[in-house]
Amino acid sequence: MSEIRRDPITNRWIITLDDKYFNPSSVSSIPVDLPQVDKNCPFCPGNDSKINKVIFELKDKNDGWKIKVIPNNRPYLMVEKQLKKQGRGIFDVISGTGANEVIIENPLHNIDIDKLDIQSISDIIKTYINRTLDLKKDIRFEYIFIFRNRGPDAGGTLFHPYSQLIALPVIPKRISEETESSLKYFELKNRCIFCDIIDNELMNNERVVKETENYVVITPFASRVAFELCILPKFHSSHFYNLNELQISELSNILKDSIYRLNKSLNNPSYNYMIHTAPVKSEEIPYYHWHIEIMPRIKRTEGFEWGTGFYINPTLPEDVAEYLRKI
Ligand SMILES: [Zn+2]
Ligand SMILES: [Zn+2]
Repeated sequence: MSEIRRDPITNRWIITLDDKYFNPSSVSSIPVDLPQVDKNCPFCPGNDSKINKVIFELKDKNDGWKIKVIPNNRPYLMVEKQLKKQGRGIFDVISGTGANEVIIENPLHNIDIDKLDIQSISDIIKTYINRTLDLKKDIRFEYIFIFRNRGPDAGGTLFHPYSQLIALPVIPKRISEETESSLKYFELKNRCIFCDIIDNELMNNERVVKETENYVVITPFASRVAFELCILPKFHSSHFYNLNELQISELSNILKDSIYRLNKSLNNPSYNYMIHTAPVKSEEIPYYHWHIEIMPRIKRTEGFEWGTGFYINPTLPEDVAEYLRKI
């Protein structure tokens, strides 16, 4: 039975099908036999002498590097550019000012997050936070977006594990949709919509994949794609970068667990994860709640979806949650 579901935060509509024939392993996969070091990979140790600028480096005990942050060599935006806003007829234009950094997560070419130890994942998350806190000082930036493209179907240009950070002079539409809608909800009910969703999900337990002391992973009610996941902190917090040491370590655990379940059930799919956090210029706010969206790239967007903004999800999120809980 198909159903049209509305996402309570973005008000986006989704058509969910109940496809009993959907085979979770029938998707393009990231090869399992990648080498530890690839002589053609610009991020692998030995080839990285070509990297001419390093923004940040975390050393290991033997003076090698564990994590390296570099500028994107084909940046979408340039930090050196002066911020200039202008009207061009009825159109608005802003100079391509921003920062675009690449976080090389590991010296090893073939290690996804599900194979890393918790300390190494915590180091990646701390790097996200430290880079955000540094860039946040630049008053030109309104938003700092952290995301990860894993595999060619997710826009990953290299198999070597990396994430990206983009500092923007404007707030992205997806984020302002979420903040505006959650503010409306707050004005009406005096509660955070995300906190309410968490309570609701934990109460009926149909879409909970994993719960720990401080986090919950769910398959969202109106999942856009099959096997979409959302990691939410159970404590209210609007800014991702306010995490303490313990919360970082627990998040590393649950992130590893989520990626493990996806890789196992979908045979190492391409996927994206995106950290949604409140804009950097706002203080802690009561109506917005940071979270991580994980989207496996199982099928391409079709005309109906492009044209209408509807997404078509072949599987019920409840079935996916049940399936993933068993992994
Ligand atoms: Zn590599
Ligand atoms: Zn909340």
